[in-house]
Amino acid sequence: GLPGHRKARATGVRYRDAEGAHELAAEVVVSTADLHHTERDLLPPHLRSHSRRWWDKQVPGPSTVMIYLGVEGELPELAHHSLFFAENWDETFDRIFAPRDEGPVVMPDPTSVYVSRVTATDPDAAPAGHENVVVLVPVPPDERLGRGGVDGAGDPWVEKVADAAIAQLASWAGIPDLAERVVVRRTVGPGDWAGDLNSWRGTALGPAHTLRQSAMFRAGNVSRRVEGLYLAGGSVIPGIGLPMCLISAELVVKRLRGDTSTGPLPEPLAPPRRAVAPGPGQPPPAGAA
Ligand SMILES: Cc1cc2nc3c(=O)[nH]c(=O)nc-3n(C[C@H](O)[C@H](O)[C@H](O)COP(=O)(O)OP(=O)(O)OC[C@H]3O[C@@H](n4cnc5c(N)ncnc54)[C@H](O)[C@@H]3O)c2cc1C
Repeated sequence: GLPGHRKARATGVRYRDAEGAHELAAEVVVSTADLHHTERDLLPPHLRSHSRRWWDKQVPGPSTVMIYLGVEGELPELAHHSLFFAENWDETFDRIFAPRDEGPVVMPDPTSVYVSRVTATDPDAAPAGHENVVVLVPVPPDERLGRGGVDGAGDPWVEKVADAAIAQLASWAGIPDLAERVVVRRTVGPGDWAGDLNSWRGTALGPAHTLRQSAMFRAGNVSRRVEGLYLAGGSVIPGIGLPMCLISAELVVKRLRGDTSTGPLPEPLAPPRRAVAPGPGQPPPAGAA
């Protein structure tokens, strides 16, 4: 579409996989990639629904440093899920949401962390005699803080956060030899969320659920400039988290069907209103005689 002309229309997607480039024609395109990436990288400027000024006012949710550990021996000190809350809660989140221009943030030590001992309920997640532990440290949404790596090879800021979290876990959970028992260590940082998944600013979650970015104030699920282009996932309504993202997909289906009811979709998913003949081997639509 050209500026000032008829509304542009989505006609399909181009994608690339191991076999090369492909084109797939489609009447409806639903982007479930990060909204900022869809708008700013995949669409030309005149087809974007949101301006630069709009983005400047958006607040990204926290990013994370993830620490994936293989630990020798058993860790009865840890349940499957553990939340370690530091008393400096407000300070931690003030730093996470500090203005980006103030340079690399020094994370408070201790800080609040989530720890999952996966092998507490799934022994197959590690070889016999070992435990699988995942540590999540909330950090500022800023891709410039860097990427993680294997065995300490990530960017220094990310590895420093990881070292501090392992030391804190050792001390708070009473596992003094934790660091020495680590046989596998892989970290992931804000730079990975941005670089690998095209996440805006490296946020791990999407636009934060501030009042101005919640409910009807959150980005909608239909492009204002490209007919046939819809949006789902954590950056649009209703928001962050797996249940919310599944509801976002449901909302696109309802919009396509013109269904303005407030309840969930019928289960099992009812056939669309426009009658479509069942394909070979498919059951007739529910309610058909
Ligand atoms: C560490 C962590 C812990 C979490 N814990 C929980 C939890 O306990 N409970 C909960 O409910 N939620 C949790 N969440 C949040 C939840 O995972 C997200 O809200 C949800 O997965 C987002 O789904 P999505 O479909 O929007 O995006 P994603 O699942 O990120 O999918 C987007 C996909 O788009 C792909 N993509 C990007 N650009 C392109 C492109 N140009 N072309 C093709 N593909 C592209 C990306 O590679 C990615 O696979 C957690 C998130 C993180 C990071």
